[in-house]
Amino acid sequence: MNSINFIFLLTIFGFACAVKVNYEGYKLYKISPKDESEVGILAKLQEARIGEFWEDGIRVDRDSKVMVSPQKHEEFVQFLKTENIEASLLLDDVQRTIDKQRNPENINVSSSYLSYDWTSYHDLDTLYKWLDELEEHHPDVVQTVVMGQSVEGRDIKGIIIHYPNEMGEKNPNPLIGMLEGTLHSREWISVATVTWIIKEFLTSEDPEIRHLAESFEWHIFPIVNPDGYVYTFTDNRMWRKNRSPENVKTCAEGVDDDMSHGVDLNRNFDVQWMVIGASNDSCTNTYAGPGSFSEPESRAIAGYVQRLDQIGRIIYYLAFHSYTQLILVPYSHVNIEDAWQSRNYADMYEIAIKSSDAIAKRYGTQYRVGLSANVMYPMSGGSFDWVKYELNVPISYLLELRDLGEYGFLLPADQIIPTSLETMDGLIEMDKMTKALGYY
Ligand SMILES: [Zn+2]
Repeated sequence: MNSINFIFLLTIFGFACAVKVNYEGYKLYKISPKDESEVGILAKLQEARIGEFWEDGIRVDRDSKVMVSPQKHEEFVQFLKTENIEASLLLDDVQRTIDKQRNPENINVSSSYLSYDWTSYHDLDTLYKWLDELEEHHPDVVQTVVMGQSVEGRDIKGIIIHYPNEMGEKNPNPLIGMLEGTLHSREWISVATVTWIIKEFLTSEDPEIRHLAESFEWHIFPIVNPDGYVYTFTDNRMWRKNRSPENVKTCAEGVDDDMSHGVDLNRNFDVQWMVIGASNDSCTNTYAGPGSFSEPESRAIAGYVQRLDQIGRIIYYLAFHSYTQLILVPYSHVNIEDAWQSRNYADMYEIAIKSSDAIAKRYGTQYRVGLSANVMYPMSGGSFDWVKYELNVPISYLLELRDLGEYGFLLPADQIIPTSLETMDGLIEMDKMTKALGYY
């Protein structure tokens, strides 16, 4: 091969590698298995990779969202017909919805603070620049902080919000609240909601929000999986895991091997690691990694929380995910008979119920509350479970934000502000109850 041809081929190959995953013509279906035999049939469908399941577990009477490529569509339809399974079409063209999410039309409510706004979704650089700006504008209150680096060497950056007392002093042993955003990178509403909370803590004049903002030293990290998040902008909108290349292998014929990149960070924590609801196959979205804490992102979070535990009293650890509108109470691997294993389960449950009532008040958005095993599926190795297990933080929740699956990860940008407002209502109520029950 002469060198010109070689360069030509290289160029083509280079382009091929850089091509962004396009979901044009992909359809999204909803299937609700009626009994265990239908669950088994859907598991077969998943195993055969005829469609990509958006959720990790398949359960009776729970909707499963299945995304199907144009190439696999006929096979999919045939499979359902043969097995006599009903499915309803949710999205006719997934790419069209992705495009709309990035470029929303007709948003008339304008809300911004400094360089950031909540009328569209923003990339990592925009967020990090805004965090720096906040520090400049609130030098007595805000401090940016880097908890560690990702697999690809990006900073995991957040901010500390700590209001001084009237004498201008800060409590050296404060009450602490920590917010973790976007451990799963495709769950963009998590970044939007967590940044909204930051904005409200710094600018709101509502006395209840002021109380919440000023009673704690807040440690807030809107994006703890920066590599995955960047990847959802540059390459694949549907990316969930981190971007570890350590366990890359051939997944299956006709399946993009890129899938074997990455570890599901919410299965990688050292709590009942790989016991349930996690996979040891790197080609899956719930791959728990080669060992617990194999990933720098999960180690960074754990190390950070352990250091916080040394300097103050952590009252809240809240992990923000999407979607399905849930408040999950630890532990995710146990059934209700064993709920007592988290010592104050009854209080956590009660507080979450009140919180979900408060969320519903504004727009009627219904959240369900409970153990993951009861309201979703059992799982283990998650960050909020680990925080409860390791440090017995009194209130540790995982929130699955909007919606119930109509748009799922592709929640339109015009729902950012409503989602944020109702979530804040929930946090205020959570704090009232926590205080009333004597936790601080
Ligand atoms: Zn998630």
